[in-house]
Amino acid sequence: MTPQTDPQAGAAVKAADRAHVFHSWSAQELIDPLPVAGAEGSYFWDYDGNRYLDFTSGLVFTNIGYQHPKVVAAIQEQAATLTTFAPAFAVEARSEAARLIAQRTPGDLDKIFFTNGGADAVEHAVRMARIHTGRPKVLSAYRSYHGGTQQAVNITGDPRRWPSDSGAAGVVHFWAPFLYRSRFYAETEQQECERALEHLETTIAFEGPGTIAAIILETIPGTAGIMVPPRGYLAGVRDLCDKYGIVFVLDEVMAGFGRTGEWFAADLFEVTPDLMTFAKGVNSGYVPLGGVAISGKIAETFGKRAYPGGLTYSGHPLACAAAVATLQVMAEEGVVANAAVVGAQVIEPGLRDLAERHPSVGDVRGVGMFWALELVKNRETREPLVPYNAAGEANAPMAAFGAAAKANGLWPFINMNRTHVVPPCNITEAEAKEGLAALDAALSVADEYTA
Ligand code: PLP
Repeated sequence: MTPQTDPQAGAAVKAADRAHVFHSWSAQELIDPLPVAGAEGSYFWDYDGNRYLDFTSGLVFTNIGYQHPKVVAAIQEQAATLTTFAPAFAVEARSEAARLIAQRTPGDLDKIFFTNGGADAVEHAVRMARIHTGRPKVLSAYRSYHGGTQQAVNITGDPRRWPSDSGAAGVVHFWAPFLYRSRFYAETEQQECERALEHLETTIAFEGPGTIAAIILETIPGTAGIMVPPRGYLAGVRDLCDKYGIVFVLDEVMAGFGRTGEWFAADLFEVTPDLMTFAKGVNSGYVPLGGVAISGKIAETFGKRAYPGGLTYSGHPLACAAAVATLQVMAEEGVVANAAVVGAQVIEPGLRDLAERHPSVGDVRGVGMFWALELVKNRETREPLVPYNAAGEANAPMAAFGAAAKANGLWPFINMNRTHVVPPCNITEAEAKEGLAALDAALSVADEYTA
């Protein structure tokens, strides 16, 4: 589809949005949402004839791009056959989606509890762990994001997200490894890993192992900066969970379904959690869907005892039909391998080259289609290219970087002083190169703010 220019229609969409839509995580009077006219594959466009290469995959969910015809057709077919049905019944789209997901999840994570998205998957995983162990506390990492609902947002390790209307009852945060900004004064990945594991075990000891239901980690923390953990860390956490009878929950809402060049990021590290949350890429975000993949031992807890939780739309047929089609497309079109190959052969060398040439790039990290560039004022001091000025006003350097990317036809993902490179997992080499060229131009603007 080619973009049609219709500024009047765009203005009407925007006017209605501004009058009535209350946006997530925003000061309602300070935002300026772009009216979107359409999208296809790796691109979307506005009503003014501007087309953008989407290096954000929406919110890191369009793992097979926009409007994949097979998934659109599967949703249409499901709508024509059985649009909706209550969760207590066995429905083909739901059973088939669960079967296909269980086939891909590691180890014996073979039972699937469907939710509407990622946050409620986290809520339910934590509830399952608490009931399974009979213990109250949850340990989660600073620099993490686990969702916006009450429990999930408190589990999230980012004080800027904590709501002022609640405390984080039963949640204890700890530091996970992140060498670039080490809390452990480590100089090597191995030191960082050892010290982070030692810190976690000390935290467990002081909290009391008998009080801890679960340790929850994003396999690769995404929103907080795509911090690939050192080899051995997740295996070490698995060992600690086994040692103290703690349920290990991996949150793969962002990292799952091909994003890292594996079906799940857990596969990269050869670890199997007891519970694994997912959402986003499971059906490329075409219809809201998330879930918890449950291991045999936790499923057993709820064999003869009712699980006290559920959702009206758990396993909604439209969302599940979209998941079945997405998983088939991913297998048929080699989407996971594409993320690995284009990631390793185009994105990674491209980003490393940009880092060499642009003084504003302090760190490059990631894997597959899951990358972050951390922008700094000064590479030696690692001082971030400040997200806000002293008055808390909008971030001039990052705003200038973003505007330059957009002027070059690229829609960038910007969070604090970072840009995340998270395009669809089926992006072509040519598209990846086009995006890198636009980033190159935008970084030249960011360079002007370095000292
Ligand atoms: N967990 C992780 C790792 C996420 O990245 C997100 C969203 O970005 C969530 C949970 C929450 O998912 P949702 O926004 O679908 O509730």
